[in-house]
Amino acid sequence: MSDNHVGGALNVCTTLAEFPAVLSVAERHSQVVCSVGVHPDYQDIEEPTIDRLLTLADHPKVVAIGETGLDYFRLQEPLEWQRDRFRTHIRAARRCGKPLIIHTRSSSADTIRLMKEEGAAEAGGVMHCFTESLAVAEAAMELGFYISFSGIVTFKNARELQEVARAVPLDRLLIETDSPYLAPVPYRGKTNEPGYVPKVAEKIAELKCISTAQVAEVSTGNFFKLFNILRDEARAKQEVATTP
Ligand SMILES: [Zn+2]
Repeated sequence: MSDNHVGGALNVCTTLAEFPAVLSVAERHSQVVCSVGVHPDYQDIEEPTIDRLLTLADHPKVVAIGETGLDYFRLQEPLEWQRDRFRTHIRAARRCGKPLIIHTRSSSADTIRLMKEEGAAEAGGVMHCFTESLAVAEAAMELGFYISFSGIVTFKNARELQEVARAVPLDRLLIETDSPYLAPVPYRGKTNEPGYVPKVAEKIAELKCISTAQVAEVSTGNFFKLFNILRDEARAKQEVATTP
C-alpha cells in the first residue's frame, strides 16, 4: 500500500469466526480500520444477532457494519434467512450509529426495499463493489449512500458500469479492491491487494476527464467522512507509525 501511495484501508469482515483476525490486523496497523458483519453468501455459519454485532462493533477500530446485503446470484430461494440477516445488520448499524457496507447481486429491488423498510438511511453507508444500473445507484444515493467501484470498472467489457461511474457525482464516490478478487487491469486474474486500488482511481479519472490526483483526494475525503475517521488524527498516527 505505501509503495503505491495508498494511505489507508478498511479490512472487511465476512464471518464472525474471522472477526478476531480482521480486528487484529486493524489493531496492529494505524492505517487500517475494520468492520464487523456476516456476508450473505454464507448459509451454514454462526448467525449474528443485533446484540452480538453491537458488542463486537464497540471498538474504536470497528468503523462499519458489514459486509451485509443480499445475493440471489449464488444462492436460490428460499432466502428468508438472508433477508433476516440483512435486517439484523441494518438494525445494529442504526443502533450503534456506524455506516453499512452493502453487497447486492441479482437482488437490487429487494436490497433497496429492505434498506427503505429498515431505515438504513439513518445509518448511511456504501454500496460496495457496485455492478448494478444507474437507477439502482440513484436509489441508493437518495438514501444517502455512497457508490464504490472496484477493479471491474477497468475491465474492457464493463461498458455499462463505466457509464454508471461517469454519472455518479464525485461527492458520492468511493473506490475499493474487493481483494483478493477482481484485480484491476493490468493485474486482472491475479490476486488483488489494496495497493492496486490506484488503478481503479486512474480509470475513474479517465472516465470523468479529471486528474487521478483529484479522484484520490475526493475519494479519500469521502472515506474519512463516511466512516467518521478524523483525518488529521489518522495522518498523525500514520506519521508516528512510519517514523523509523
Ligand atoms: Zn461483496
